Amino acid sequence: MIKVAINGYGTIGKRVADAVSKQKDMQIVGVVKRTPDYLSRIAAQKHKLYVSDDSGLKTFDESGIKVHGTVKDLLNGCDIVIDATPEGMGDQNKALYRKHNVRAVFQGGEKETVADVSFNAYANYDEARGKTFVRVVSCNTTALMRSLYPIYSELGIKKVNATLVRRGTDPNDHKKGPMNAIEPSFSFPSHHSIDAKTIIRDLNIDSMALKVPTTLMHTHVVLVDLAKQASAKEVLDLWEKYKRIKLFNSKDGYKSTAQIMDFAREIGRERSDLFELAIWKDSAHVNSGTLSYIQAVHQESIVVPENVDAIRAMTGDTSKEDSIRITDSTLGIA
Ligand code: NAD
Repeated sequence: MIKVAINGYGTIGKRVADAVSKQKDMQIVGVVKRTPDYLSRIAAQKHKLYVSDDSGLKTFDESGIKVHGTVKDLLNGCDIVIDATPEGMGDQNKALYRKHNVRAVFQGGEKETVADVSFNAYANYDEARGKTFVRVVSCNTTALMRSLYPIYSELGIKKVNATLVRRGTDPNDHKKGPMNAIEPSFSFPSHHSIDAKTIIRDLNIDSMALKVPTTLMHTHVVLVDLAKQASAKEVLDLWEKYKRIKLFNSKDGYKSTAQIMDFAREIGRERSDLFELAIWKDSAHVNSGTLSYIQAVHQESIVVPENVDAIRAMTGDTSKEDSIRITDSTLGIA
């Protein structure tokens, strides 16, 4: 059993904790919370709770929430930690992980330099083998890798141009925005295409991004100049082979991200998570060698399967295919 700790139990951390709990070869030995809020009370019913520093022992005790120690105690009893603390904090935590001699999986809010390798299960599982520090790339980069890697590996890519329409914030947040505006990113290319190259180093890709007032999903408009000629149907058939891609047809009523998230609710997914990348089947066209398509990304959950696979790649000898198959079947990705 691989003993897994979760440091940072928010949007990503709580989902990875639940996903790891479903794996037969892994166990959650504890999760770290900082504030004694409603989420801490719920977390304490599912997992052993630890606090981020000594002062937390007192505040949690005063709130009547049982804790088992601090993050340092937890690190003494685990093989690997999932760092899902807010952006930039993972880099600060790295020295602590090193001191306690535990491996760590960081998230996409951290810089590439935090880890030995940036990770996407389809594209570079084997590069994470035996590594001490791995970074699962962001939700947007994971989504780009999911649809682009099959094309890159089987048809070849001359050039990608992606426009990312990003959600303003997550559904459980009331502080970020925009609330009634569209906010372009003025750096070119946006950091997403730079991040994509941490996985496929020779990918010729540029991206632009803007934020809009929605919390459901990100949406990407992608143009790919194909190296080898292919029809839209051939590309769709290729994507069909990858379970972490789910094709939706607007003619079935999937007119927007609202219905795609409703699908996840209706099939009974916990927290209405959609781990798969959604691609609108009828958005795929090929014109003069350029493939165009539109995809939607459930930002809160798309990186969850990759975190589970990163743990296996770093700690054992499970093959890429086996790990992906096990993760998918335990998470209901069919
Ligand atoms: P979040 O704010 O929802 O959760 C972070 C949690 O860490 C919070 O519960 C916070 O209280 C806790 N925390 C803060 N300081 C801490 C400390 N010192 N020790 C332990 N816990 C502490 O953030 P998130 O959205 O889960 O993001 C985590 C990481 O995942 C970031 O790198 C982010 O960029 C990345 N990510 C986020 C999304 C998304 O859409 N939310 C998607 C993919 C990747």
